[in-house]
Amino acid sequence: MIRGKILIAAAVMLLAAASASAAEVGDVTGVIRCSGIDTYINNYPVNAYNLDGRQLVCAEDLAYYGFNVEWRQEERALYVTPDYSTVEIKGQENVRRRYYYVNRRVYNAVYSDITVYLNGEPVEAYSIDGRMMIKLRELERLGTVEFSEERNYAGAMIDGFPVGEYAPLEVDYDTKPVVVLDPGHGRSSSLMSEEEKINEGYDYYNGGWGEWRHWKSGTASEDCRGDGCNGYGSCWYGIGNGDRDTEPEINLRNALSAKTYLEQMGYEVRLTRSSNDENPSFKKKVSYCYPGNDLNAEPDAACYICIHSNAGGGRGSAYIKAEGSYDQKWIDKAYVQDSNRLGEFINNRITAETSLDEYSGGAIEGLGYMILFNKCPVPVGYMEIGFFDSSDLSIINAEYDTIGLAIAGGVQDYMYN
Ligand SMILES: [Zn+2]
Ligand SMILES: [Zn+2]
Repeated sequence: MIRGKILIAAAVMLLAAASASAAEVGDVTGVIRCSGIDTYINNYPVNAYNLDGRQLVCAEDLAYYGFNVEWRQEERALYVTPDYSTVEIKGQENVRRRYYYVNRRVYNAVYSDITVYLNGEPVEAYSIDGRMMIKLRELERLGTVEFSEERNYAGAMIDGFPVGEYAPLEVDYDTKPVVVLDPGHGRSSSLMSEEEKINEGYDYYNGGWGEWRHWKSGTASEDCRGDGCNGYGSCWYGIGNGDRDTEPEINLRNALSAKTYLEQMGYEVRLTRSSNDENPSFKKKVSYCYPGNDLNAEPDAACYICIHSNAGGGRGSAYIKAEGSYDQKWIDKAYVQDSNRLGEFINNRITAETSLDEYSGGAIEGLGYMILFNKCPVPVGYMEIGFFDSSDLSIINAEYDTIGLAIAGGVQDYMYN
C-alpha cells in the first residue's frame, strides 16, 4: 500500500512537473477584467481587477497603501512588505468605478517566472506585462478581508495601519474602451496630390509612392526600410495596390453603422477615415490606436477592426487569419490568438444575424503577411464582408445596418469573453 501511494505521489509530481515545464514565460493563462466591485484597503480606494471571479489588486500599487515594494532582479522576486511605521496612507489618485469598463477585458494574464512575496511568504500571482497581480484575499494574512455583495464592496483592513474614512466610490462615466474602426481603402491614389500623399503618411522610394510593410523589429514607429524586420511579405508596398472602385463606399457604410452601435454600447470609436476623399496609409491608420495619434505614446485602444468586402470569385463573409511571427512593439504572445478570436466573434455574428453565408469556413488563411498585422499594436479583426462582385451585393446594400450591429456585437463578445 505504501509503495502504491509513493508511486501515485511520484506520478502526480511528474505530471505537475510536465505541466509546469509546458508553460513558457509570456504564455497567456487568462483574461484580466476591470472589477465592478468597489475595493478598499483600510478604507482607501484601490484599483481592482478580476480573473475568473478572483478579486485582484496590483502588487506594485500596494506601495501607495503602506507597503514597501521592492524588486530583486537577481531573485526574480517582488517583495511586498508592510511598513508598520506608516502614519499616513496616500492611496492612488482618481480611483473610480469606470462604468464602461466593468467586466470588460483590460489585460492578458501571462505566465511568468517572478515570485511575489507578501510579508516574506510566496503568494499566488499573475503577471500582466511587467506588473504583478495578487488576490485581495491574500491580504488576510495581515488583517481581515471582507466582501459584501449588497454594498458592492471588497475591502482589506491591515492590522496596525492607519484607517481612513469610508466613502462610496465615484463613478466615472467618461472613460470608455477605445475601438478603432478602419473602413478599408479610400480615395484612389491617382487622384491624390503629392502633398496629400505625404499628409496621409506615404513615402517616396525608388521612383514610386507607397509604404513599408513592417516596423523595425521591436519598434512600432520606425519603418523597416527593407531590413531589420520580420520580413513577412515584401517590405515595400506600392500605393496603387490599395486602389479600389466600389469597395470604399461599402466599407465606409458598414463602418459608420458599426460606429453608431458601438457608441451605444459604451465604446469610444475612432475612425481611420470618415469620407471617401481620404486614403490614409497604414502608418496613419494604426496611429489611431494611440492617444493623440502619437506613435510614440502607449497605445490606448482595446482592438482594431479592419472592414473590407471581398471580390474575385466566391460568396459569403470571413475574417482573415493572423498567422506568423509578428514582432512589433506592444503586442504580447496572444496577439495572433486574440486577433483571430476577434475576427471569429464578428464573423459569427455576421453570418448568424445577416443573410450573408460563411465563406471558406469563416476564416481565410495564407494572408497573414498583410501590412496591418505587421504594424498594429493591438489585436486586429480583419473582416472580408461578402463578395461585392457577386449576388452578395444586394445583401450588402440592403443590410448594412444589420452588418454594423453584427460587427459591434462581435466586439462586445470579444470584450466580455
Ligand atoms: Zn521589412
Ligand atoms: Zn478590400
